[in-house]
Amino acid sequence: MDVHTYQIGDARITKVTETLLQGLTPSFLYADWSDEVLHEQPQLRSLLDDTGTSVVLSVHTWVVEWADQVFLIDTGIGNGKERPFSKLFHQLETPFLERLAAIGIAPEGVDHVLLTHLHADHVGWNTRLVDGSWLPTFGNARYVMPQGDLDFFATPAGDSRRMVYDDSVAPIIAAGQAVAMATEGGSYLDAFRFHPTPGHCRGHMSISFRSQGETALFTGDVMHTPIQLYRPEWNSAFCHEQVQARQARQWLLDYAADHDAMLFTAHFPDTSAGRVSRGDQGFEWQFA
Ligand SMILES: [Zn+2]
Repeated sequence: MDVHTYQIGDARITKVTETLLQGLTPSFLYADWSDEVLHEQPQLRSLLDDTGTSVVLSVHTWVVEWADQVFLIDTGIGNGKERPFSKLFHQLETPFLERLAAIGIAPEGVDHVLLTHLHADHVGWNTRLVDGSWLPTFGNARYVMPQGDLDFFATPAGDSRRMVYDDSVAPIIAAGQAVAMATEGGSYLDAFRFHPTPGHCRGHMSISFRSQGETALFTGDVMHTPIQLYRPEWNSAFCHEQVQARQARQWLLDYAADHDAMLFTAHFPDTSAGRVSRGDQGFEWQFA
């Protein structure tokens, strides 16, 4: 598997792939879908699979090595999790930990896990099954998670995904390894900052990292493909709050362009990383 590594200031950032999600048609992903965007931006056709009828999404973790510490940004779907609501997530088995090991990261060597939100494809490797119990995979890590999503799970609305909380979040809290990030966001170890970007879900946050004047931005699920740079008003089928999701996307794209940030996305295919610029027609995307 290709390993892409990026240098942002003093940090080394590496993608560790878990799996690819296939079979989502653009018109399912985006209710406002129109082929017109592919005529305007022919390079976007490369985002489609071989049949040209569905988009490919990546699920992965970003590993940040900085100041002699190891940070993971989001933890994928996880192995062996009961997910009856998604056949793409249900009882997945991948060699994700072996892939982490291949870049020199052992579970006990992870110091911090930073979570953009508490959905099934972002918290899965928080835990693994040990003798019939879900236990923290990264036993020495502090897991930083949005208070807004914890609040969501405290309401009846959270019942539809209760199993995600029970097997991937509650064991972290029980182990005393959870740290809640306030709804208004804030900094973490100076170099990281959590920015509220609600819409995809109530507590969603994007995470910036700055070092030596360079900026990385871990977007989370504010966008699912580069198509949304060319149609920022298009929400995905997974956006819960329509108005906020559009506002968050606009904020994030402006922030990225203003700070010349390298974007580290949660689901873009290919390298999943790249830069945003402003062109004549609006935002433009370049994979890096
Ligand atoms: Zn996601």
